[in-house]
Amino acid sequence: MAQGNIGVTSDNIFPVIKKFLYSDHEIFLRELISNAVDATQKLKTLSSVGEFKGELGDIRVRVSIDKNKKTITVSDHGIGMTAEEVDKYINQIAFSGAEEFVNKYKDNAQAIIGHFGLGFYSAFMVSKKVEIFSLSYKEDAKAVHWSCDGSPVYEMEDTIKSERGTDIVLHIDDENQDFLEDSKIQGLLTKYCKFLPVEIAFGKKKEWKDGREQETDEENIINDTNPAWTRKPAELTEDDYKEFYHELYPMQFDEPLFHIHLNVDYPFHLTGILYFPKIKNNLDIHRNKIQLYCNQVFVTDEVENIVPEYLTLLHGVIDSPDIPLNVSRSYLQSDQNVKKISSHITKKVADKLQEIFKNEREEFEKKWDDIKLFIQFGMLSDEKFYERAVKFAMFENLDKKYFTLDEYKEKVKDNQTDKEGNLILLYAQDTDSSYSYIQRAKEKGYDVLLMNGELDVHIISQTEQKNEKLRFARIDSDVIENIIKKEDSQKVTLSAAQEDALRYSFESALPKSENQNFFVSLENVSTDALPVFVTQNEFMRRMKQMSAHQQGMAFYGSMPDQYNLVLNTSNVIITELAKNLITDAAEKVNPLQEQLILKQAEEQKLKDEQKNIKSEDLTQEQKDAASQITKEVADLKNQIKEAYSSVAQNNDCLHQLIDIALLANGQLKGESLAKFVNRSVELLKK
Ligand code: ADP
Repeated sequence: MAQGNIGVTSDNIFPVIKKFLYSDHEIFLRELISNAVDATQKLKTLSSVGEFKGELGDIRVRVSIDKNKKTITVSDHGIGMTAEEVDKYINQIAFSGAEEFVNKYKDNAQAIIGHFGLGFYSAFMVSKKVEIFSLSYKEDAKAVHWSCDGSPVYEMEDTIKSERGTDIVLHIDDENQDFLEDSKIQGLLTKYCKFLPVEIAFGKKKEWKDGREQETDEENIINDTNPAWTRKPAELTEDDYKEFYHELYPMQFDEPLFHIHLNVDYPFHLTGILYFPKIKNNLDIHRNKIQLYCNQVFVTDEVENIVPEYLTLLHGVIDSPDIPLNVSRSYLQSDQNVKKISSHITKKVADKLQEIFKNEREEFEKKWDDIKLFIQFGMLSDEKFYERAVKFAMFENLDKKYFTLDEYKEKVKDNQTDKEGNLILLYAQDTDSSYSYIQRAKEKGYDVLLMNGELDVHIISQTEQKNEKLRFARIDSDVIENIIKKEDSQKVTLSAAQEDALRYSFESALPKSENQNFFVSLENVSTDALPVFVTQNEFMRRMKQMSAHQQGMAFYGSMPDQYNLVLNTSNVIITELAKNLITDAAEKVNPLQEQLILKQAEEQKLKDEQKNIKSEDLTQEQKDAASQITKEVADLKNQIKEAYSSVAQNNDCLHQLIDIALLANGQLKGESLAKFVNRSVELLKK
């Protein structure tokens, strides 16, 4: 028996492995199985080039648990190792330079494991003792037994082993006994080894028999050695791709929408299949993720730094030996290969979408709703992708027809260009609550888009930024005649007194709350338009909606909603109401009005007198007189407002009008709605 020190200068390498690699300690199994698979693949290669002349025979890798002995064994029938090789690969090489490295990267388990070939030693993360039994494929090789109890001292001796290959036996330590559970190992194998290229067997297949689950004689193979992404696209049918999708995500029942098969040889190696999933809501988005493999060994499903963020919405696998797996995330972002990979994937995705759009437009439109979120996310976050996608991104109108931006511009440009040459694209977010506005627009022959997607407001701003003289307006953002102004608007034809009467009365009767502000505006819309309606300022509303998704815009989010109550002064109901209000308030208002006229005349006179005097030359007396009169004018105005307010209180027609406007805008609820209903019934009795 030989004894020796493992080629490492520090005594504390094992505690470091145990301690710092703790968070990732389940990867020991992946590392050992990868080694077993490598050894098997090497043997296959040697055999194919004639260097190994024997029978390959059974080359399955087997994982087994012995609960009594508290061991896990990974066995292969690969090339095996001679005593010299164990000495070279396990005792010496694995640890060369390790100490320095471990100290430098002790927070990054992945880095330590991969960088210096500590793969095998990760076994010590869960073991108090590790044994190797190995018989090399070489003729006349002697079997070797190596064992090490976690100190840097190992033992090595000849042993008897009849089968070629290597058994690694882990004596699981007290803290890691949970790894002796079948279900735990089964879980890890499915996570890391599901697509390894050599069969991995763990226990026996089970089946239901006589009302209970029973073991069969057949071995339980946990992997698919020939996963779809490693095969040629020409060999695969549409069903193969779907089947593979469900193999990847067994809990996903929806079919994917389309797939992209990636296959690059130069300047980096990359294979994989990406799927466009059906995304139903926000919750679904990150449930299944793209899985990253390195030569069919699962590495991670956190691919954020390898593919652009919006592509992380896709599902599927990427397999590349060229992605540096063992470095920090910030390093990944600056790595040239990773950058190339990322832009390659972006290009492939855009190509595929373009192709479907061109060749299967109908199919593309059918799936648009499902891929919209993803495409818009891409357009908003990646300029290159935007340039490609703007040619196939769809706008849907209320007739459920789909257009590209160019097609849509062409469609509406004749009718929807205003007198300043701006092309106005009308849209609705909620067809129910803006029904009456939509009707008015349709009567004018205008087309209305449906923009109710999560990212639509952002797409709206982006489209406006990129297209001069193009503006979006929500259908209820103003009177339609004002949204698309074709001629100068008609002057309001009411007298100043009538205007005041309407303004003051409506202002006093509008709902007041912290999160809503109403303003009254008088517009000469048209005789056939409704007497009153509510509009909502486009800019403020948009800012508020955008603030929901964007940091730094919270200010807008906390602002109250701003609405306009538009009184249509060419509608006879409004002109009649103005007259009635004036009559009802006459007794109180007329004397006030007379006083106001006198006071205003006085104010004017004073202003004229003081007009040519510099303000610093005015005497205190003159200043006081001016401010006194301004105050008196304001007081009188307030009294007039109050007079209209009390008249408004008892005017059913006015309240009815406000409620109708709110109702048409979907805003009349609860107590106000009940009051409206009662008032309507009372009015019928009259
Ligand atoms: P890496 O696999 O990154 O080279 P490891 O520490 O996992 O580092 O393994 C060191 C070396 O030991 C391997 O390169 C290989 O030559 C040898 N080795 C490990 N496991 C086996 C095995 N099951 N069969 C044959 N050789 C092995």
